[in-house]
Amino acid sequence: MRSKVKVTAIPGDGIGPEVMQATQQVLAAAGAQVEWEEALAGAEAFRKGIAAGAPQETLDSIARNGVALKGPLETPVGYGEKSANVTLRKVFEMYGNVRPVRELPGIRTPFSGRGIDFVVVRENVEDVYAGIEHMQTPGVAQCLKIITEAGCERIVRLAAAVAEAEGRKKVTVSTKANIMKLTEGMLKRVGEQVLKDYPSLTHEHMIVDNCAHQMVIRPEQFDVTVMTNMNGDILSDLAAGLVGGLGVAPSANLGDEAAMFEAVHGSAPQIAGKGIANPTALLLSSLMMLRHIGDFATARRIEHALYVTLEEGKDLTGDIARDGEGVPTAAFVDRIIANLGRE
Ligand code: NAD
Repeated sequence: MRSKVKVTAIPGDGIGPEVMQATQQVLAAAGAQVEWEEALAGAEAFRKGIAAGAPQETLDSIARNGVALKGPLETPVGYGEKSANVTLRKVFEMYGNVRPVRELPGIRTPFSGRGIDFVVVRENVEDVYAGIEHMQTPGVAQCLKIITEAGCERIVRLAAAVAEAEGRKKVTVSTKANIMKLTEGMLKRVGEQVLKDYPSLTHEHMIVDNCAHQMVIRPEQFDVTVMTNMNGDILSDLAAGLVGGLGVAPSANLGDEAAMFEAVHGSAPQIAGKGIANPTALLLSSLMMLRHIGDFATARRIEHALYVTLEEGKDLTGDIARDGEGVPTAAFVDRIIANLGRE
């Protein structure tokens, strides 16, 4: 029997604790050999006066375990505090945000049946998110866009590694190099250079605004796309919309020392506490986590049970229910667990 792997669990804010509990319940029922170490971050940390949004104990837990599963964290808008999400990504230099975009059985969208199956690899620590922003003079604000060659190289290599690991064929480097020749242009140039080391992969460059257009017009053409931080942030949400929306979109934040898995969605304050949130995105993120720690069999079993549940179309939460009549999170979870035994 596998020994248990310790994983830091950050339930987070809003619907976070609900989807975390649902996910942990499914993993436990499937016999995943995970031991959770619960940790705090987000709104409660800010309330306690921790300006970075995550206390030292949380950082220590992630440093010790090297793996975390995280619920959404509320970000204070427009005043002093930093984003706790950005803090965690930066402290552990989790430079790669990997977001699979795949059609799911039973989730009907205007794009269903097109064979959408690609991965967005977003640079996660540089760009305008470096947090260097200030008022130049009253009425004039400035934000600096920081891009480094080292940052470009490691994100392109991560995209290539994802492509190779998943048997994919093409990496699309998508930039705004036509306008920001030095910053965005650096990713384009480094991409051309680095991808020469991967002869089995086709390399293409696409201007990011056309990439947004192409993702809607012909999404099935993409395999792996790699982008700077803000472009990747926006286009990965667009991509999530193609296959069922935020309620079903998972992600991984990867660095050399730690990996943190989380749903793409936020804390959904409007539905928090009502027991109706869709746990699929965090559950799919936890499957990426199980594969990261090497438990492929359990991940496969849970994935199958989830797909059967979605395909059956009974007992789904309101955001994905076909007749619009959703069931509580708990009923959806019970159905997934009941389907664990089905092959
Ligand atoms: P959101 O993702 O919380 O909500 C957008 C819409 O999607 C809402 O209608 C919401 O009800 C719905 N939704 C999201 N997740 C759902 C789920 N699992 N099941 C059913 N419906 C779901 O985005 P927002 O309203 O822009 O952000 C709310 C808060 O979350 C903000 O404070 C924001 O900063 C934060 N946020 C955090 C993260 C993160 O922690 N990674 C990501 C995005 C936003």
